[in-house]
Amino acid sequence: MSHRVLVAAELRNLLEPAELAGLDVTWIASGEPTPRGDWVAIVPLLTRWMGGTELKNLPKLRIVANVAVGYNNVDVVAAEMRGVLVTNTPGVLTDATADLTWALILATARRLVEGVDLVRSGKWTGWHPEQLLGLELRGHTLGLLGAGRIGQAVGRRAPAFGLRILYAARTAKPDFERDTGATRVPLSGLLNDSDIVSLHVPSSPETKGIINAKTLGRMKPGALLINTSRGDLVREEALAQSLEDGQLGAAGLDVYAEEPAIHPRLLAAPRTVLLPHIGSATEETRRKMATMAIANVQSVLSGKLPLTPVYPPPGT
Ligand code: NAP
Repeated sequence: MSHRVLVAAELRNLLEPAELAGLDVTWIASGEPTPRGDWVAIVPLLTRWMGGTELKNLPKLRIVANVAVGYNNVDVVAAEMRGVLVTNTPGVLTDATADLTWALILATARRLVEGVDLVRSGKWTGWHPEQLLGLELRGHTLGLLGAGRIGQAVGRRAPAFGLRILYAARTAKPDFERDTGATRVPLSGLLNDSDIVSLHVPSSPETKGIINAKTLGRMKPGALLINTSRGDLVREEALAQSLEDGQLGAAGLDVYAEEPAIHPRLLAAPRTVLLPHIGSATEETRRKMATMAIANVQSVLSGKLPLTPVYPPPGT
């Protein structure tokens, strides 16, 4: 018997036919609303909101297999109440996202976009000892807000650049501290003492807006802010103000509060490097994410436990 499943149409080229064995797939494109019907599984992108209404309209649903490690596009409480499992894709995107975080750290510290713009403008007049001076990484401090998989992977790349590491987290990470010399500090200490602050906590009621006018005001003058986690961690109006005032040195962003819309003041703000949410965008990683989401569906539909549940399945 084949199971009726809804799968994001954008994943079609990333999946092998064998992975879809036994599934009767209905492909749904991003812009299409989530349909009503008797599908038993859905594999949505992070751009699809799976709230109470969507879940109610799929009364036979057994699993939402989100194609992302973050799952703030799913009303997890509503899903759990309806007995619907929710899974994500942890681990497979850690290195790709950590690498992209470093691309933003280097791009902001060394003013890459300004340099590219200068060359393309035809106004570059040649080498000058004081042109586009940036932040020397060696001897400065990287502050990680959140030291889970991606935060630690970013931190593990830092000693090669001679950076000291601070991190703020709910729980201590002794292995990470031992391997990298990182020190755990409260958020206030992280903001006061870091030359680069990089965000790696998930979006949640506790973390939404955690970077706001007050916390930005605690950062060192000229510090860099990097966000490859979720846009709503940052109050974008306050960030734009801080950049306009020259308080913050630069911002490197991959994510935004209202994607794909970008706050107009951020678009116009000086010293910002803005990327279109490409943290996990490598061929290998995107295939692994699609494969992991489908493997979760196959596992649950064959009566086994989900591979990567975001909350413990009932009875376990
Ligand atoms: P993870 O392993 O779960 O790490 C998240 C960490 O945040 C956990 O260690 C957790 O702390 C910590 N945390 C949660 N709430 C906190 C709080 N209030 N204060 C301090 N720390 C807190 O997740 P991950 O795999 O590293 O992914 C992190 C996030 O990156 C995802 O949620 C997703 O939004 C984002 N992401 C973005 C992209 C992109 O394309 N730009 C790609 C992948 C992921 P404890 O360990 O103490 O519980």
